[in-house]
Amino acid sequence: MSHDIAAPAPEVLALAGGRPVRDTLLPYGRHAIDDDDVDAVVRALRSDWLTTGPRVAEFEAAFAGQLGARHAVAVSSGTAALHAAMHAIGVGPGDEVVVPTLTFVATANCAVYEGARPVFCDVDPGTLLAGAEQAAAHVGPHTRAIVAVDYAGQACAYGDLRALARESGARLVADACHALGGSDADGCPVGTLAELSTFSLHPVKALAAGEGGVVTTADPALARAIRRFRDHGLERERGPATMTVLGRNYRLPDIACALATSQLAKLEDRVRRRRALAGRYDEAFATLAGVQPLALRPGAGHARHLYVLRLECDRDLALRALRAEGIGATVHFPPVHLHPYYRQRFGTRPGQCPVAEDAAGRILSLPLFPTMTDGDADAVIEAVDKVVGALT
Ligand SMILES: *Cc1c(COP(=O)(O)O)cnc(C)c1O
Repeated sequence: MSHDIAAPAPEVLALAGGRPVRDTLLPYGRHAIDDDDVDAVVRALRSDWLTTGPRVAEFEAAFAGQLGARHAVAVSSGTAALHAAMHAIGVGPGDEVVVPTLTFVATANCAVYEGARPVFCDVDPGTLLAGAEQAAAHVGPHTRAIVAVDYAGQACAYGDLRALARESGARLVADACHALGGSDADGCPVGTLAELSTFSLHPVKALAAGEGGVVTTADPALARAIRRFRDHGLERERGPATMTVLGRNYRLPDIACALATSQLAKLEDRVRRRRALAGRYDEAFATLAGVQPLALRPGAGHARHLYVLRLECDRDLALRALRAEGIGATVHFPPVHLHPYYRQRFGTRPGQCPVAEDAAGRILSLPLFPTMTDGDADAVIEAVDKVVGALT
């Protein structure tokens, strides 16, 4: 009778017993496997090689070619890629490695594997990237390397980072695990922006191999050191294999390379789809009170690995409420320097990186993966609107 003049009843959160926006949980990320990916793996399985066969070199050549990098070396994970990079530039005991605290733990762990001390730097409050300004505050006489992290898929300002590395005699490594398919503001592809760039082929990243990783570099000596490191420190080029350094078994099998090569052909399309979905979010959240997307560096080719929102309301409650609505939001990342291991082993403490610490309590990552439909994205937007509206 009077429904045309009544204000719409506020929607009851699923957390409070209301009807959820979705009946099933939309994950924050998901790999995409097509029939031709399956066929490529089956061909590898039926071939003479399961481990190091022709598909490793094939994948490396295709990866390097696509990024315009001179060398690509396939390894068993993104973590192995970072570790191999630390080894190749000679990181060791007594050295310091400057690492942003807002990253996955592996970025810092790799310095520790080689006996060095990670020194944590803060991030920019808008982009949550650590650039030269943040890193410079921690560069000193013991700094061997600076690791730049392309958080969420946005490339750092590498020109400034390269200048800082040059002035301070430090080596520059990119943890580009989020940024495959992206580029810097000058159009140079991620993978060519630092001395060594590292990638992950974990299924939640842009290109899935099961587990896997890649290091790219323009320097043939560094590429050779990484090849040696992934194979026990053995050099097999001339005569019997000779071990000259202590390496690991970080090889990536042919089976995984077959999958990665097949996926590589679709990378551009998938990054394009991620950008379209992220653009849909950008548009919706630009006008929604109580949420703030990350700042974008003008001109940079964002790979849109994560869609991160900063909230004004209670983040942990919002996370639970979104999950109840069927939206698999999550947090990237708790600051590395606050993990108990780092606090105990290296004496790191709260207050050291105030911007990252504050952000880490407010951010969440929304579902974003190439096979999401526009309808999935609209459900995410509806749920964020509902939850943020109820909690603020
Ligand atoms: C995924 C990831 C890694 C580690 O990659 P794995 O393949 O899982 O070992 C390292 N750094 C960042 C920023 C990542 O997102």
